[in-house]
Amino acid sequence: MMSVQITCSHCGSSIEVHPDVNAHKVQCEICQQTMDVNFNHEHEKGLLKECPVCSRQDFYKQKDFNRKIGVALFIMAAILSIWTYGLSLVALYLVDLFLFRRLALVAICYKCRTNFRGLANMSEIRDYDHEMNDRIVYADHDFKGKPLSH
Ligand SMILES: [Zn+2]
Ligand SMILES: [Zn+2]
Repeated sequence: MMSVQITCSHCGSSIEVHPDVNAHKVQCEICQQTMDVNFNHEHEKGLLKECPVCSRQDFYKQKDFNRKIGVALFIMAAILSIWTYGLSLVALYLVDLFLFRRLALVAICYKCRTNFRGLANMSEIRDYDHEMNDRIVYADHDFKGKPLSH
């Protein structure tokens, strides 16, 4: 199921929700601010075509790397490498490559930075594009889900 992590427009806290067509507002647990959301049936099926927060259609995907786990794993591998002659660091690299790089991806809305996990159509989401990001963030350009063309 898709999970949506919205950034509160008031205090910047994360608000975690699951798509529900009957939910038109989400509330921040920290500051009680409510924000409008617009979920459709595609969202309920895990398909991301349109942002439920800002209605844009431009997203990018990136590795969803949990920093805390990553740091803990690295320290463990570094300590173990004394006895394993560095093999644990190689193992960590492989774990990173297969587990994190291939499985855990997060889609992010260029415009409002809402995070989406567990998408059914993650393969349709393109990689981060620096130029698209600049044009959306600084010039408020709307690509309407189309890739940047030169
Ligand atoms: Zn808040
Ligand atoms: Zn958005």
